[in-house]
Amino acid sequence: MSLFSRLQFYTTVNHMRDLPETRAEIAFAGRSNAGKSSAINTLANHTRLAYVSKTPGRTQHINYFSFGDEAYLVDLPGYGYAQVPAAVRAHWEKLLGQYLATRAQLKGLVLLMDSRHPLKELDWQMLEWFLPTGKPVHVVLTKADKLTRQQQALTLNAVKKALADHPNCTVQLFSSLKKTGVEALEQAIVDWIKM
Ligand code: GDP
Repeated sequence: MSLFSRLQFYTTVNHMRDLPETRAEIAFAGRSNAGKSSAINTLANHTRLAYVSKTPGRTQHINYFSFGDEAYLVDLPGYGYAQVPAAVRAHWEKLLGQYLATRAQLKGLVLLMDSRHPLKELDWQMLEWFLPTGKPVHVVLTKADKLTRQQQALTLNAVKKALADHPNCTVQLFSSLKKTGVEALEQAIVDWIKM
């Protein structure tokens, strides 16, 4: 049984002061619609688990899932959604920026991007907040099933090249629909927890 089949919703947090203590954390971030909830559900083998993050009032918050007593998977609010009021956006920017730059328990960042539209401005913003910590980033190019094999290879190479100056960044293709890339993602996370 994989570690992730024990993934369970734990809590929702809206302020840095309310973050839970002690366990290691692995954060998941991405533009809204990048396929983050689908990826978490795919890992958990549990169809609706991460949709808790999409219930009204929770989308701009940080949602914690526990797996065993080892670590938390931290689902960060999706960004880049045009309809968000300026005040809400300012709040999440502060929360996300502080969390990524200062969270000691955070072991690594899984950054999900639609493989058809990788490395948008706000994705770079996440990297700018997080890379100075020296911790690893694993870029997951989602919905790979929407690309041909050739397009997949081109996209993977282009993203790797764009991140070549950052040795702590790894990149993979992923599809929740076809369940491809699941083991590679699990392995990246397991390696971070062991560190
Ligand atoms: P989130 O906003 O980042 O949590 O994104 P969701 O997981 O809700 O996915 C956004 C949309 O993309 C939904 O309509 C999903 O059905 C679709 N989607 C997510 N993953 C995949 C995938 O691997 N392949 C395809 N074709 N569609 C996907």
